[in-house]
Amino acid sequence: VERQRRFRVAVQRTRAAAFLLAALSAALFSLLGVLDATMVEVVLLGGTGMLTAGLFSCLVTTGVASRMGRTYDGLWMLTDVVLISWVVHTTGGASSPWFPWYLSNIAAGAFVLGPWCAFVVFVADTVAYLGVIAGMGQITGLDRTLYEPLMRMVFLYGASVLSLRGIGLLKVRRDVIRQMRDAEARRVDELTRLTAVLDQRTREIADASVRIHEADRLKSQFLANMSHELRTPLNSIIGFSDVLMSRLPADLPAKQRRFVENINSSGQHLLNIINDLLDLSKIEAGRMELHPEAVDPLPLIDSVCTIVRGTCSDRSIDFEIDHDGSATSVTVDPVRLKQILFNLVSNAAKFSDDGSVVSVRVLPVDAPDSPLDCDSVQIAVIDRGAGIDPRHHRAIFEEFRQIDGTSTRAHGGTGLGLALVKRLVELHSGQIKVDSERGRGSTFTITLPRDFAGHAAADEPAPQILDLPSEHGRRILVVEDDPTAYDTIRRHIEAAGYVPVRARTGEEAVRLARLLSPAAITLDIILPGIDGWEILRRLKAEESTREMPVIIVSVLDNRDLALALGAADYFVKPVDGDHLIARLTELLPREDHHPPRLLLIDDEPELHELVEARLTPLGYEVLHALSGREGLDRARRTPPELILLDLMMEEMDGFEVATELSADPDTTGIPVVVLTAKDVTGADRARLQGKIAALVGKADMPGTALVTTIRSLLERRRREVLHA
Ligand code: ADP
Repeated sequence: VERQRRFRVAVQRTRAAAFLLAALSAALFSLLGVLDATMVEVVLLGGTGMLTAGLFSCLVTTGVASRMGRTYDGLWMLTDVVLISWVVHTTGGASSPWFPWYLSNIAAGAFVLGPWCAFVVFVADTVAYLGVIAGMGQITGLDRTLYEPLMRMVFLYGASVLSLRGIGLLKVRRDVIRQMRDAEARRVDELTRLTAVLDQRTREIADASVRIHEADRLKSQFLANMSHELRTPLNSIIGFSDVLMSRLPADLPAKQRRFVENINSSGQHLLNIINDLLDLSKIEAGRMELHPEAVDPLPLIDSVCTIVRGTCSDRSIDFEIDHDGSATSVTVDPVRLKQILFNLVSNAAKFSDDGSVVSVRVLPVDAPDSPLDCDSVQIAVIDRGAGIDPRHHRAIFEEFRQIDGTSTRAHGGTGLGLALVKRLVELHSGQIKVDSERGRGSTFTITLPRDFAGHAAADEPAPQILDLPSEHGRRILVVEDDPTAYDTIRRHIEAAGYVPVRARTGEEAVRLARLLSPAAITLDIILPGIDGWEILRRLKAEESTREMPVIIVSVLDNRDLALALGAADYFVKPVDGDHLIARLTELLPREDHHPPRLLLIDDEPELHELVEARLTPLGYEVLHALSGREGLDRARRTPPELILLDLMMEEMDGFEVATELSADPDTTGIPVVVLTAKDVTGADRARLQGKIAALVGKADMPGTALVTTIRSLLERRRREVLHA
């Protein structure tokens, strides 16, 4: 309504202007004598025109026009017909030069109400024009006097129609352009809005990312702290109970012995769970670092089997390794591969029946046959035990999932092992699959790419891991059918850094002696089947086993016979562990002639006691420093043959101590073994690169790793000194 009102006022203003212009030009041409109009007529006409324009404007502003609707437009158009005809009449009728003014009228009609209106106005104009001319007697019949004015009007109409079409098109185009511009503006608005939203989101994401980073940092810090805080006391529990177990007086009541054993095995169990949990969360956080290197899996499998054989020595489960004899090398993180195999082999043993066989089969597969589509190595762990219902095949790889049922519960476990195995295999871009049925045993097969590039950056320095001697040199075959007696001997042997392998019967003893070539043998005399004497005779009769030192451990006292048959020594049960180890150490290739001096730098007093308890019986002298600074001083004053160094210490940490030790010419040659409860990252290793000789986790403390490491480092050093 408002727009129509404004439009109507604008039209009347234009009319007024047109009349004014017409009046002025008429006045000018009259003065020039071109036009036959008097000034009175000019003023009258111009004035009337402008007056009507004013009147119609008033009708609009008062709102009368909008009530009148179309009648209003018809009225002013009719006024124009009259006014123009009046001008034509005044200026000579047919000879008037003013007839083109009708054009403005027709155009106005078309402009305001469209083509049909233009036609109506044209008809009205034509009638009025011809009427005026006829009224003035200038039409003389159906001749030129009639046709000429008629033609004029038709031309005017044609001109107006054509020009209006042009204007119409222009208008349409202008509308289209305006619409496009509007759409564009709307789009720009939308874009601006979206950009603002995007900005906001980006800010939120940035905030969230900062928070996630912070949470991530806190989580890893928590993990590091937790692993340290939990493992440290656990290591003490395990380490001390272990030392206790190897020192228990022979006449201690069995019940108390069991208590200590319980403390030890519970500690071990807890430590395993914590380690598995930490490993899983490390993998989940993408923080598990792999240090791949080319390894021959066979010795690794062999050592895993030896360890598992030790853990189930009372169940006479046999382990066999199956391979086609071709050299196999696979690029993996050896520590993780060992962890994978340990889990699989111990599960296989756990779920096997007593007396059955667990096989590990190694098979190189070429790319076309490998599920990984690349040259791979498959390791299958096969047992003939309980088996797993195919329904559960998927579930066993999930965390904390155990198959319900009495048999599983009877075996204990946390359900973390296979989940971890699967993650570790996948981390190596490998695959694990299970093939099993209830009652028919299980086969767990891992497939690993032969050339795994790994996640660790290529330029990250490879950890300097000491090449430990193969376990062949460290195995002691313990021939013993009584579990308690075996346990006592085992503990002493492990504490001394050797690996016990158990044989329960005479046949087994002879077979294992041939197969594993142990460094020495302890032999019980009273055994089921063939007795100790016969075993000794067979061992001495055979080329491959003749040189192995055999120590008899028996309740019988028949020393002379034993020595006559070729035994190296004779102990009567209950055996004195320290004494036994001392004798074993003598019999094995001698390594040292004076007690090697070690310096332990650690701020935990318990660890000092533990290391002391562990190492002094083996003939080492242990010096103690309770801080990094003190350690450096002691090392400079009385250089030890080897330094055991903790990483996490207050004030001056192990990294600094290692750096200073390697920088000082007096101490730079001393091998440093880092002994840590911390998770050593790639960055830590890079910092320690070239400054330390080996890394031993404190979790390994009760085991043999530390003793073995120390022994081989000292041996190596001695060889170097000899060469020099
Ligand atoms: P757990 O610590 O309980 O052994 P795992 O993740 O190693 O946890 O194994 C999950 C479950 O898978 C076990 O509880 C057992 O039921 C089943 N399982 C694993 N290995 C074997 C196997 N060799 N024979 C039979 N069942 C097995």
